[in-house]
Amino acid sequence: MKKYDQTPLRDRTVDGRRERFCKKHQGWWPLEKFVKAKNGRGGYLGFCRACRSDQRRATWKPEVPRAPRKCRPRAKPLRVGIFNCRECKVDKPIADFHINRGVSRGHCSYCRECDNALRRKRAA
Ligand SMILES: [Zn+2]
Ligand SMILES: [Zn+2]
Repeated sequence: MKKYDQTPLRDRTVDGRRERFCKKHQGWWPLEKFVKAKNGRGGYLGFCRACRSDQRRATWKPEVPRAPRKCRPRAKPLRVGIFNCRECKVDKPIADFHINRGVSRGHCSYCRECDNALRRKRAA
């Protein structure tokens, strides 16, 4: 508890109203909206009620900003300008694929390297 006591609490009075700087949400709040505590300075804790409830919620539920999907989609997420070569299975930039107007994606399924290798094989 000593560590907590060492943290300076900021208090001020605005138009006769006592306010305290909430350490959690980093803003001023009326003192009466702070969590009452016998051992706190001025009878209140260093964070407001809203933040206390946040804290409670956080302890009850592990902090999950967005529920992670349990089943991942099988397909790799589409990355702009990156193709996966059907032959060597390596993700390569679009520039590494020959342009092929005959296919929907506009480029060959094989990268230039594999394409050349296949052509050489066919030619041999
Ligand atoms: Zn707060
Ligand atoms: Zn390849």
